[in-house]
Amino acid sequence: MDIIFASSNEGKIREFREILKPYGINVLSLHDLGFTGDIIEDGETFLDNAIIKAKTISKLYNKPAMSDDSGICVCALNNAPGVHSARYSPNRDDKENNKLLLKNLGDNKNRKAFYECDIVIYFPDDRYYSYVGKCFGKIAYEETGNLGFGYDPLFIPDGYEISFGLIPSEEKNKISHRGNAIREMLKDINKIF
Ligand code: IMP
Repeated sequence: MDIIFASSNEGKIREFREILKPYGINVLSLHDLGFTGDIIEDGETFLDNAIIKAKTISKLYNKPAMSDDSGICVCALNNAPGVHSARYSPNRDDKENNKLLLKNLGDNKNRKAFYECDIVIYFPDDRYYSYVGKCFGKIAYEETGNLGFGYDPLFIPDGYEISFGLIPSEEKNKISHRGNAIREMLKDINKIF
């Protein structure tokens, strides 16, 4: 069975393609289909945005589509940047996003934060399945390491003394929000397809 991955992030597509291949599921990218449009992600939650992306593509191509939406929520900032994580700073730049987060948090003692990832699999008949994964931790006072991406140099997962910027991807995947959401999805895989 073919499923379209409703994202232009090649790294994510590769990861999902490898995970689903053993189940006989072939992941197609938007690039494979020649889709060059823009999907407006104006939902208020990660789930809303994941549904918007998967539904738009499923309806357009009349095929099952999947998507994921993720971000970081900082407790002392009322869970900001949340769904605005990628575009927190005006230039949508990882370094600037991290700088702004540190500035907004200042020397607040409450550094609690979590990453969230929502995965949606949407069928043309409007049936859909959704899965959530979270990863709890805290925001450091300065960036360390250059592994991972986005807010990783600032995020210290619970149970660790170092940031995701210093934790190799195989270890990150075992505890990450995306890893947890994928594991939830895989529990259901025979029911979904
Ligand atoms: P999206 O799910 O591709 O829309 O990503 C949203 C944004 O959340 C990214 O651009 C990052 O800023 C942030 N983000 C999501 N997951 C991670 C992660 O695992 N590490 C670091 N930043 C992340």
